[in-house]
Amino acid sequence: MTKRFSRRESRGGGRRRIGLLEIDAEFSVEKRKARDLRHSAWWKEKISAGTCYYCGRTCKPDELTMDHKIPLSRGGKSEKINIVAACKECNSRKKYMLPTEWDEYLKRIKHTDGEK
Ligand SMILES: [Zn+2]
Repeated sequence: MTKRFSRRESRGGGRRRIGLLEIDAEFSVEKRKARDLRHSAWWKEKISAGTCYYCGRTCKPDELTMDHKIPLSRGGKSEKINIVAACKECNSRKKYMLPTEWDEYLKRIKHTDGEK
């Protein structure tokens, strides 16, 4: 998904506060970096482990997606330290939830999964 967030969406309802032009330019750099990382051996190794960073579920490598722990929209960077493998479910939840809702979700799944 490379589509940019539409301005209207960012304004309506206050779901997400993105859409500043300067940030867009910065995003594209970070997105390119993320793309490069996706081709790296580091990433391939990460997904071959097959574990979702968030819910800890085991997934097939092709079911894991690259996720920024701190989203680019919140100032996160495309650096290894900020990039994790997430299952599609967690990834899409994260996309559609407010940051606070996402935090709640993480707390909830950590609770049910317990310690390893
Ligand atoms: Zn997950």
